[in-house]
Amino acid sequence: MQIYNTLTRKKEEFIENEKGKVKMYTCGPTVYHYAHIGNIRNYIGHDILDKTLRYLGYDVTRAMNITDVGHLTSDSDSGEDKMEVARKRENKSSMEIADFYTKAFFDDFDKVNCKRPEIISPATSNIDMYIKMIEKLLKDGYAYVSGGNVYFDISKLKDYYVLTNHKEDKMVVGAREGVEEDNSKRNQADFALWFTTSKFEGHELLWDSPWGKGYPGWHIECSGISIKYLGEYLDIHGGGVDNIFPHHTNEIAQSESYLGHKWCNYWFHNEHLLDESGKMSKSNGTILTVSELEKRGYDPLAFRFMCLNSHYRRQLVFSFDALDQAANTLNKLKNKIADIIDDGNINQEKYDLYNNRFIDEISNDLNISNTITIIYDLLKDSNVNGHTKLKLINDFDKVLSLELTNKNENNSELTEYILSKIEERNEAKKNKDYNLADQIRNELLDKGIELMDTRDGTKYKIIK
Ligand code: AMP
Ligand code: ZN
Repeated sequence: MQIYNTLTRKKEEFIENEKGKVKMYTCGPTVYHYAHIGNIRNYIGHDILDKTLRYLGYDVTRAMNITDVGHLTSDSDSGEDKMEVARKRENKSSMEIADFYTKAFFDDFDKVNCKRPEIISPATSNIDMYIKMIEKLLKDGYAYVSGGNVYFDISKLKDYYVLTNHKEDKMVVGAREGVEEDNSKRNQADFALWFTTSKFEGHELLWDSPWGKGYPGWHIECSGISIKYLGEYLDIHGGGVDNIFPHHTNEIAQSESYLGHKWCNYWFHNEHLLDESGKMSKSNGTILTVSELEKRGYDPLAFRFMCLNSHYRRQLVFSFDALDQAANTLNKLKNKIADIIDDGNINQEKYDLYNNRFIDEISNDLNISNTITIIYDLLKDSNVNGHTKLKLINDFDKVLSLELTNKNENNSELTEYILSKIEERNEAKKNKDYNLADQIRNELLDKGIELMDTRDGTKYKIIK
């Protein structure tokens, strides 16, 4: 399998540490608010990688953290813990906030058919592990105590910027505009491993540590959880592109200094989902979630389908028009699949032909949109019997998870009805009978179906 590796900045052959086994770590959500559809795009990308590896026969163990402490509002160690912000906003305890948003996260995660990782661990459950790591980093001279906090000293490493192509000027957090200098740090790019006497008065969650009561920094959580549950050698670690710096850069620094050897071979990063005004973010007010899409009448799998049509290393701009189009295309595709008659026996030659094409695409840095083309080719191929077609589509769906063969009985009838009405309306328009055309539009609207005339013909949307 070929996979793009941020560490080497090229597409490479994937070689696992232990034959046939893959240890994979995904950075989990910060549960101070709902996960927006951008966050969910990132988890769909990881889900596809996880399922692709399984399809290719690897035995995958995946771990993911839940960040419920220590992720500050700023990339540098300034700002406030995001959980504290939520606690004040909602007048609840940190644990109540974490429980509520963790549940909301997994509701949406499940709705888009993401498979839950084998290991899911909240940051607050592994404090002992972080303390153990920080003690060793201090003992070995990689960390220091200053102003009451424990910091990692990046000047101790030859290659702190290994993940970022050494764009040091741009990367140094302290050199960025609007970031306040922290006088406790030896180097401005040093990062906090543990906060004790911090500037964040009244932090609710505190643990005893050799350096006084305090709480862990965000970066040490992922290193700690990964090493604790997946061991000293990791195959793949992933997140969104914003995690490359400082989060993953810091994870490499502290993990490899702690372990004394290389830690993770492949770094997998998903590009962002943007809204029309730029990057989506939980902190900029309005949050569009998968559940919200569902409330507006969209099938969450239409959103998954929309994501799968774009490569994970490309930015994707979300719009309702694009989602409408994805929903219509998925609907039509499912209806075509529902029409397949399950006849004949497996034709192994044809099965292998199409399955090999599928494997070629998924093994080529997750070229998922091309696998959809393979399905269309398969549907058109009159030399493949129904049974073989259905077996292939069911197998492909182990990776795609679009429920392609789950037919909604009413759905195909409804689609047929709508399409016949659109036809009737087109005919009316051709005959310049605009009254009839409007009448048909209104009749559909009363039933919760909105028609949209576009350059590519009339599209429809189910609005209730
Ligand atoms: P957070 O809950 O903020 O820690 O983010 C969870 C994950 O979503 C992280 O791995 C981020 O890199 C990723 N992420 C954040 N914003 C976006 C976005 N607009 N599009 C895709 N992924 C994102
Ligand atoms: Zn992480």
